[in-house]
Amino acid sequence: MNKEALLTEEKTLDPQDWSKLNELGHRMLDDLFYYLETTRQRPVYKKPSKDAIASMRQSLPELPQGATGVYEDFFANVLPYNTNNIHPRFWAWVQGGGSPFGMLADMLASGMNANVSIGDSMPMYVEKQVLDWSKEMMGYPATASGLLLSGASLANITALIVARHHANREIKTKGLQAISGPMTVYGSAETHNCVIKGVEVIGIGSDNFRKVPVDADYRICVDELRRMIEEDRAAGCQPFCIVGNAGTVNTGAIDPLDELAVIAKEQNLWLHIDGAFGAIPKLLPEFASALKGLELADSLSFDFHKWMYVNYEAACVLIRDPQLHREAFTTAVNYLTLHERGLSAGPDAFNNLGMELSRGFKALKIWMLLKQNGLETYRTLIRQNLQQAQYLAEQIQLHPELELLAPVPLNIVCYRYNPGNCDADLNKGNKEILMRLHEQGIAAPSYTVLNGHYAIRAAITNHRSRFEDFELLVNETLRIGNEVFGRH
Ligand SMILES: *Cc1c(COP(=O)(O)O)cnc(C)c1O
Repeated sequence: MNKEALLTEEKTLDPQDWSKLNELGHRMLDDLFYYLETTRQRPVYKKPSKDAIASMRQSLPELPQGATGVYEDFFANVLPYNTNNIHPRFWAWVQGGGSPFGMLADMLASGMNANVSIGDSMPMYVEKQVLDWSKEMMGYPATASGLLLSGASLANITALIVARHHANREIKTKGLQAISGPMTVYGSAETHNCVIKGVEVIGIGSDNFRKVPVDADYRICVDELRRMIEEDRAAGCQPFCIVGNAGTVNTGAIDPLDELAVIAKEQNLWLHIDGAFGAIPKLLPEFASALKGLELADSLSFDFHKWMYVNYEAACVLIRDPQLHREAFTTAVNYLTLHERGLSAGPDAFNNLGMELSRGFKALKIWMLLKQNGLETYRTLIRQNLQQAQYLAEQIQLHPELELLAPVPLNIVCYRYNPGNCDADLNKGNKEILMRLHEQGIAAPSYTVLNGHYAIRAAITNHRSRFEDFELLVNETLRIGNEVFGRH
């Protein structure tokens, strides 16, 4: 073979002209900074244009199109129609807004392209640092284990698998066939749907998730919980896990976590807490009482991408018993054993702690953002969101045409337009109000149904919102409500 000839043929994905890509990169950076700086000036929702949607029905590219052209396609067709959770009046579902420095951190992580699973390299230690900080934030012991994941959904499943292993170590090898009588999980009727999905995919089955009734504040009824566990035991079931909520998705209710910890101990059950966003106020001394018991759970999930405003995706699971955590996910294989020296040495591999083998470097943005802002900044922003929720609730209560539909213990406000004495369909009318709020680009709350009432729901995990944004929401709900219900 003629090596000379071959060498000239060799291809790579690196640019031939680095300076040209460098220039394009700077243009992208300028565009994105401008985009983030001016987000308030644009509507919160813009329906994707016909052209933009058509641009996603092209044939699979056979020939190269060039970086600049591809970027221009993105700029014209993708960027203008974002999900827009970066907007100051985005309060739909529970979504964080990220930050410009987070964007830069993501770029650094992507440039390193680290696969943070195994090996003696700094990204492994960065993730361990982030996990240690996470334990400290949540009042967990330093000896606990943990893992970063894409979201609380995956964090919850990871915890449930360890809980299942705690209940019966044979299941790992013999499967649920090794069990006599169904294993049962308990959580309030307000538990997030991803927990139920988790119970399904780990083989327990959603019929064996016991939805415990809630009180008027949407908190789990602990007496009912006790009664259901005992009833199940008497019937030959095998209760193994209680799931507590630190901040339910519907209304932000916080279960009495310390009481759940007592029951779990008494009944020898695993206590997992889903604290996707509601665990975050653990950082505030004024929440010491409301979140008391969070630190006692056997496992805890929370998101960095919601109320810590970290760019997507970033979540964490903490597991009190490191041995059990490792045991639930470890299987010794030849190609993944740690060596004494070289690249294959280093800390315990993260793939021993969860389902993922290849894992991105999400730890970097969390590490950089926590350092950039310090807990002090997060405390200020979380308090700001909490105060905004109280302010919105007050504004709603000041107007006789608006009705607050649930208590506001955290950052979620559920309300509806209700002029009183009207035979119009309130559910249908409020759904119409919500759609017009979106379509007119005013604000993006979302919705839920509480006791059969359609509720407009604002979940405030937004560091860009100002108090005036909530005044606008109230005034525009009234204006559109009057239109929809024909009152002028
Ligand atoms: C958002 C949420 C989840 C799911 O978290 P993801 O990060 O979206 O996977 C679970 N529980 C609660 C209470 C949530 O608000």
